[in-house]
Amino acid sequence: MSTLNLPLAGRTSNLVGSVIDSSTSLLAAQKHDVVRFAMGAPAAEFVPVNLFNQIAGSVLDASSYTYGASEGEPRLISALLDYLATTAEPSSAERISITSGGMQGLDIACKLFVDPGDLVVVESPTYTNGSATALSYGAELLEVPMDEDGMDVEALEELVAATGRTPKAIYTIPNFQNPSGTTLSVQRRIRIIELARRWGAVIIDDDPYGLLRFAGEDLPGFRQLSNNDPLVFSVRTFSKILAPGLRVGWIDADPSLRYLIINAKQAMDTCTNVPAQHVVTEFLRQGILDEHLAKLRIEYRSRRDAMAASLEKHLAGRITTTHPDGGFFLWVTLIGEDARVDSQRLFEIALAEGVAFIPGPALSAGGRFSDAFRLCFASTGEERTDIGVQRLAKALDMALAE
Ligand code: PMP
Repeated sequence: MSTLNLPLAGRTSNLVGSVIDSSTSLLAAQKHDVVRFAMGAPAAEFVPVNLFNQIAGSVLDASSYTYGASEGEPRLISALLDYLATTAEPSSAERISITSGGMQGLDIACKLFVDPGDLVVVESPTYTNGSATALSYGAELLEVPMDEDGMDVEALEELVAATGRTPKAIYTIPNFQNPSGTTLSVQRRIRIIELARRWGAVIIDDDPYGLLRFAGEDLPGFRQLSNNDPLVFSVRTFSKILAPGLRVGWIDADPSLRYLIINAKQAMDTCTNVPAQHVVTEFLRQGILDEHLAKLRIEYRSRRDAMAASLEKHLAGRITTTHPDGGFFLWVTLIGEDARVDSQRLFEIALAEGVAFIPGPALSAGGRFSDAFRLCFASTGEERTDIGVQRLAKALDMALAE
């Protein structure tokens, strides 16, 4: 249906669709067998479905099906605080608000801090659903290049100086970044805090993967490094450590913001899905999250290794890749002759050959990285991964021959 004659709001021109999300329905529509390196979802076999069903059968009652508190179910907040107390990021009740996944945390961050025309710094490449949220509030995005230590802070300063403006927000994914898999170094975290203070900009610290480190040492986060500076707005989610369909996440932010977060929530969806919060609460209360995470770390590490080995076997000399210490993704850049291939064209051929990934331009606010793409190593077992990478190599041959 044409929307031309409808009285659409001006902001609809800032609503960009998500290639990442639409790949879910694109893949569901495929009639043939496709190896799925595209979506960033936890492996289905690692979702504790039986336990969730058991918990749902035993803890949900009539009170679970009415409206809940806008800031989140008190029992969930308390179970979450108990869990966080055992991690590098302990928190307190007045800092926490439960959200419908990490996406709602990002939406609230932008609703609170981004006016139309504001400059928002994003990593390049970035999680474009996050940058799309800033765009939906009318932000102008400034893409800052990354290297193996995360956002290049010198480039950040230079690029900002060149605009002659002051950014309002810095959107960063510090650990095992989506999509690059790289981790922001401590020095750079500190520098970003200094720059944010200088500019009076909020740091939107989006960290869904931090608990999924399978190599190396945990690094201190923005909250810790800044001694709880109110400019740090942390967005977290259970999507990657439990299951994304639950749609349960949380914001950890300065207590002075809590009433605004609650007001935003009340004008949006009243409260987060109550049964889902109760399932997560009970999972936390049973004290099995650590065991679950330990298993995920082992599995994802061997899946990363399997993918790296397959890439080496089938594509050596034709690509460079990142080597993540956690999370779900690695980033592939075509080199030499192969750099001529457009990753969006490669995607079309690869899909027909039975393998899917996310092309680079879908992961950059300005459509950069036509010579690169994101692979999710977390959701596919080792054998299928090798089949997928083999298909990818064949698709690359075909694309090169065009
Ligand atoms: N931020 C990043 C960096 C992500 O990778 C994701 C999920 N792909 C989200 C936020 C959104 O999380 P959720 O599914 O909980 O909304």
